Amino acid sequence: TVPETTETVEDDHQNSAHGFALRERLDAREQRGLRRDLAPTERVAARSRVATDPGDGISNFAGEDQVILASNNYLGLADNDRVQQAAAAAAREVGTGAGASRLVTGDTPVHRALERNLARTKDTERALVFSSGYAANVGTIAALAPDVIFSDELNHASIVDGCRLACAETMVYDHADADALGAAMARRDEQARKGEDESWLVVTDSVFSMDGDVAPLAAICDAAERHGAWVMVDEAHATGLYADGAGIVGHEGLGDRVQVQLGTLSKALASQGGYVAGSEALVEHLANAARSFVFSTGLAPPAAAAAREALAIAREGERRERLWNVVERLRDGLDEMGYRVLGESQILPVLVGNRSKAVAFGESLAEHGIVAPAIRPPTVPEGTSRIRVAPMATHTEREIERCLEAFHEAGRAAGVLDE
Ligand code: PMP
Repeated sequence: TVPETTETVEDDHQNSAHGFALRERLDAREQRGLRRDLAPTERVAARSRVATDPGDGISNFAGEDQVILASNNYLGLADNDRVQQAAAAAAREVGTGAGASRLVTGDTPVHRALERNLARTKDTERALVFSSGYAANVGTIAALAPDVIFSDELNHASIVDGCRLACAETMVYDHADADALGAAMARRDEQARKGEDESWLVVTDSVFSMDGDVAPLAAICDAAERHGAWVMVDEAHATGLYADGAGIVGHEGLGDRVQVQLGTLSKALASQGGYVAGSEALVEHLANAARSFVFSTGLAPPAAAAAREALAIAREGERRERLWNVVERLRDGLDEMGYRVLGESQILPVLVGNRSKAVAFGESLAEHGIVAPAIRPPTVPEGTSRIRVAPMATHTEREIERCLEAFHEAGRAAGVLDE
């Protein structure tokens, strides 16, 4: 019968010396403790809390709602009424999908309105939205096609992939170290005298997602200017949060010195998609040459409308103020307990070190109703496993108290804090 035949063919493929050995590769990952499973829907964390479901596989915690402390929905806008209404109206009035590339028939007034607001927020001539932050990074770096790229060693994977796609000579400099960047540029200058028209690009995240620290952007701009390089900053974790929503570049008044400002609509802006903001020429070039823009369907109109509304709310300020209050309360509380809290942003990575200890810590937190799983290698270097605490503006006073109580108990249970 047909099913039997299919099975035999599959078996042959599995056993073939020329097969892809996917099971073996998964097993190898498992043995190294690196295999991951897709998380159950409840953990997707559009909200700052979820009702406890004893069958959800997260924990057997049977009390109040579980507090989500591991979402990038920093302003808690993914279930905000105004944002949802904007998305629903766009779905009804424009459609659920763009239907084609923006260059064909997928361009709508909703996209244009969002781009105008992003450009206004960033104080740039123009902005262009992509279907994800990932697509924005790979498409932009490849389309700029620099001869040489200088990239922070902790830059996001989408920047790393963009450097690969650009086929540029890529020099990785020490994390957040403008002196190391300057030295790398000077070395490259000496080794191969820079040709008249050689193009150099420095690229960095502004807020780093796993360490919660902030790149020294002014010093990076100084180094770049000494060597005639362009600067590109990924504001994925800063958009909507700093300087009336503009990010760190705006916060530090570096708009005129950073040629490419990029970010995502999927974190504080509670939607999906990515953007690039910069000069008219940059945006026109990307709209023509960034393959992830040209050959990909336009951002879904409800996503564009949601991001636009979320940006407006972020700029009103009240949500940002609430977030910073929550961040301060948690940071102070964790510091007082004796935790080593990294970072200088809304992201509070609590350093554990050992990977199994971190996993046990995460599990113990889950037993106390706090969802904040361990971050471990390969996401972070060996010996630096951590709990990445990502508070949200919508966490209540009571929830912050519960988080701190849980860290107090779970830290002892997992041997992270002394008895
Ligand atoms: N850049 C950084 C720094 C990120 O953290 C992320 C998302 N994790 C991205 C880019 C990619 O954005 P998106 O999720 O919109 O693809």
